[in-house]
Amino acid sequence: MHGERRHELARRLRAVRERIDAACVAAGRVPGDVSLLAVTKTVPAADVAVLLDLGLTTFGENRVQEAGAKVAEVAQLSPAAAPRWHFVGGLQRNKAKAVARWADRVESVDSQRLAEALDVAARREQDTGGRLVPLSVLVQYSVDGDPQRGGVSRDQLGPLAERVASCAGLQLTGLMAVAPLGADPDVAFADVAAAAAWLRARFPQASTLSAGMSGDLEVAIRHGSDVVRVGTALVGERRITSE
Ligand SMILES: *Cc1c(COP(=O)(O)O)cnc(C)c1O
Repeated sequence: MHGERRHELARRLRAVRERIDAACVAAGRVPGDVSLLAVTKTVPAADVAVLLDLGLTTFGENRVQEAGAKVAEVAQLSPAAAPRWHFVGGLQRNKAKAVARWADRVESVDSQRLAEALDVAARREQDTGGRLVPLSVLVQYSVDGDPQRGGVSRDQLGPLAERVASCAGLQLTGLMAVAPLGADPDVAFADVAAAAAWLRARFPQASTLSAGMSGDLEVAIRHGSDVVRVGTALVGERRITSE
């Protein structure tokens, strides 16, 4: 395998883990309480295979076509591994079927119609033996209502969660959010934490908070994030541009 790249990924992974652990300690949380989702969009399957070998288990993708091909490639490169895949990007309803084939979780559900499409697709996969468990779903919350970034505002959070929770093919697991560009992450993640607490109080199964990326994971961990989604800090600047 490409030794130099492996060395680089190992070094970057160590650094990211150190940041997560330090942020947990600073926040009075137990290191290890926060899990790391490696965002591998634009990254070749060979890098994912290395990251798997280095002990990472869960990978995030945001483009349906790129992800589907990569999932298959990684399965060939690392046949003994059992990677889990999260979809984290904007998703059109007509792609729900493709995503339900390989995704363990969709973190970016921000409409009832998308939830319904994913439910149909996930149940079909279960019926045909393609999946053994319901599709885990995070509802995406929008701090500022910017449609570009996706997510629902506070008033739509309850109805959306209700809809997801009512779907037999879906498992409501929690909330995901991205801090708005240019916003003070401390203010943004305080708002996200409040939304997550509100959701958890009504839907106890929605206990997971996915918040924080390369640039702001410490702040997100301070505000209670359980999952940080890290791309750039782990794999370097994005390389392929696809779709
Ligand atoms: C790309 C992406 C990330 C990772 O961002 P980095 O700044 O590269 O760490 C996290 N979450 C979502 C939804 C993304 O699209």
